[in-house]
Amino acid sequence: MPIGTNVTGKMVTALKRLGFDKVFDTNTGADFTIMEEAHEFVERFTKNDELPMITSCCPGWIKFIEMNYKELLPHTSTCKSPHQMFGALIKTYFAKKANIDPNKIYVVSVMPCIAKKFESKRKEMKNNGLKDVDNVITTRELARMIKQANLDFTKLEDSTFDNPMGEATGAGAIFGTTGGVMEAALRTAQDILTGEDLEEIKFEQVRGEKSIKEATINIAGKDINIAVASGLSNARKILEQIKQGKANYQFIEIMACPGGCIMGGGQPIKSSKIRSEVDVRKLRADSIYTIDEKSTIRKSHENPILKQIYAEYLEEPGSYRAEKLLHVPRMPWGRYLVAEMCHGHVS
Ligand code: SF4
Repeated sequence: MPIGTNVTGKMVTALKRLGFDKVFDTNTGADFTIMEEAHEFVERFTKNDELPMITSCCPGWIKFIEMNYKELLPHTSTCKSPHQMFGALIKTYFAKKANIDPNKIYVVSVMPCIAKKFESKRKEMKNNGLKDVDNVITTRELARMIKQANLDFTKLEDSTFDNPMGEATGAGAIFGTTGGVMEAALRTAQDILTGEDLEEIKFEQVRGEKSIKEATINIAGKDINIAVASGLSNARKILEQIKQGKANYQFIEIMACPGGCIMGGGQPIKSSKIRSEVDVRKLRADSIYTIDEKSTIRKSHENPILKQIYAEYLEEPGSYRAEKLLHVPRMPWGRYLVAEMCHGHVS
């Protein structure tokens, strides 16, 4: 199929044919990440606490900072990545609602990412002794499974996600491209800081293929200096600036893969011939920006599913339960138990 084709509906059908009982939308998980991360940023920004705050939804990037700049770990957000938050909610909120023993739920995340296989096995990605996510398969592996099952993918009808966790916003959709997490977070942060429902939700400054993007956004009369970097050599440039006290940012998004998750290591590999003929990154990014533009709801905090789950279960962003399920513990020396993680890496 042409690069950039939106095959979400066909993937849902294929997963059902492969035997999954429920198929939920990870973009809903991304909306939860934005809710928690935007509130965390607003709190840290208003208290001028551990700024700049750096996004934490990319496990490749988190491993990089743990190994190379652990003294800067307090700058990272404590939010888990979208699929980890979602797994935690599936085994708690959904299990309770559907009256299913969480021990009998096996959660598989379909990801563009190989690092998320490692992330799902981390010690802090658990609740009550149960892993948030039991297994991760890449989009490339899913394609192989579909072929092995002899499903003619192109001919599959579209299906919709299961409820109650199958509705996502445009903000959740743009997570996949560099700058998307920042833009989604700013949409929510600006509404929190102004107390208004602002119509201006497109942040051109963070879009596009530049590997490091910088901008100053004025919200409620206050300047917020932001940076967006993709690719770890670019992350290193930003971290060196912070280390040397030369950076004046308040909020930073970092993704390990150049271009963001749409170019993740688990994605379908395109030949050098195809890559010389078309701009794969741009086609994929255009596709998810189109999903955003066509979405009726484009801000995470306006997702009715989130409103329901916060009202029924989580109470509010940053609540005791939200911290327990959706964040990693914040240790005095950083967000993770670094020593354990280093040991895991060496072994
Ligand atoms: Fe995974 Fe790459 Fe996305 Fe990071 S940027 S979450 S390593 S696919």
